[in-house]
Amino acid sequence: MALINENFLKLPGSYLFSEIAQRVKNFQEEQPQAKLIRLGIGDVTRPLPNACIEAMHHAVDEMANSETFHGYGPEQGYNFLIEAILRNDFLAYGIKLSPSEIFINDGAKSDTGNIGDILRTDNIVGVTDPIYPVYIDSNVMGGRAGKLQADGQWNNICYLPCTAENNFTPQIPNHKIDIVYLCSPNNPTGTVLNRKELKKWVDYALENNTLILFDAAYEAFIREEDIPHSIYEIKGAKKCAIEFRSFSKTAGFTGVRCGYTVIPKELYATTIEGQTIALNPIWSRRQCTKFNGTSYITQRAAEAIYTPAGKKQVRQNIDFYLENARIMRESLIQTGLSVYGGVNSPYIWLKTPDRMTSWEFFETLLNQTHIVSTPGSGFGPHGEGYLRLSAFGSRENCLEAMQRIKRNL
Ligand SMILES: *Cc1c(COP(=O)(O)O)cnc(C)c1O
Repeated sequence: MALINENFLKLPGSYLFSEIAQRVKNFQEEQPQAKLIRLGIGDVTRPLPNACIEAMHHAVDEMANSETFHGYGPEQGYNFLIEAILRNDFLAYGIKLSPSEIFINDGAKSDTGNIGDILRTDNIVGVTDPIYPVYIDSNVMGGRAGKLQADGQWNNICYLPCTAENNFTPQIPNHKIDIVYLCSPNNPTGTVLNRKELKKWVDYALENNTLILFDAAYEAFIREEDIPHSIYEIKGAKKCAIEFRSFSKTAGFTGVRCGYTVIPKELYATTIEGQTIALNPIWSRRQCTKFNGTSYITQRAAEAIYTPAGKKQVRQNIDFYLENARIMRESLIQTGLSVYGGVNSPYIWLKTPDRMTSWEFFETLLNQTHIVSTPGSGFGPHGEGYLRLSAFGSRENCLEAMQRIKRNL
């Protein structure tokens, strides 16, 4: 009989969203007349920018004709999209990269999950906590996490707490870690790493030969001046960091599927014998074997994000979500709650009042205001005592939810 990869058996079930669904279902059976407002979602709700729709229609027509038909494309992505990315996402910020340093993919989840393919299982991995669950779960699958302990932490993972006490900035560890995941603007806390804090991490990484895996999926939500849009704005980062970008939250591509990964040519890792190896050609080799490229139609849609019309439409959508976040932030603060994030991010991170646990406050909100949220403890041990609200809804629901909280809490 075939032998299974036992690492998969170590994973606890993904209880968070099924547990939320179950509790919401129970509530709806008890109170069928209650009108629920769902602020738990981490998905966009506004339609695709019109520039993308037009580009997709055009690309579909090209596929209908043998002269303009596209079959397999380059595994690393089409040049038209890579060039638009280089000009707009990097050169505009003073960062020079070459086309072969960009790998187009079908979304950031794939590559943040798959990057472990090219890294040994005995690396010491650090994660900020709370975090996007993909980073830990993919390392469990890759055999890097060790055993799950009673405190909810994996014994081989180095947890870097991000709480109100440290202003949600992960502290530099006093020992060596081989790989660290950083996410800014952060999901779930909605907070950001400023230039000074990010530089500390780059300097640490250069000193300790640490590989930084930088997730910038929410880059488009950055509005404040001092916040780097790319880790490569920090000197030396090309020697120590891989950056992940996504069009999902930027342009509503959660159902279209497109993003990209940056692996600079100057980035090296080492064999156990100490031979240094460039990661870029290794990842390229991996992609050529396991990935056959993102669809032509999708890449044309992504290219359209960078046209003048596309940029304007993307900006309008993000401004809309950020206005929701501002409304939520301000009314929650007025209610007397401790509120974080929501300025450079579509997520609001709340401290639960009266020392309630995340699940207790989740139940309070559900029962007293009929609002569905996400308990912070679902994002890791240091998320306990917090709750995430999402600004990815309609204006009407956002205003109504805030009214309910003011009246009932
Ligand atoms: C939504 C999200 C992504 C993007 O995922 P896609 O696969 O591109 O849709 C990546 N990282 C974080 C932290 C996210 O919240």
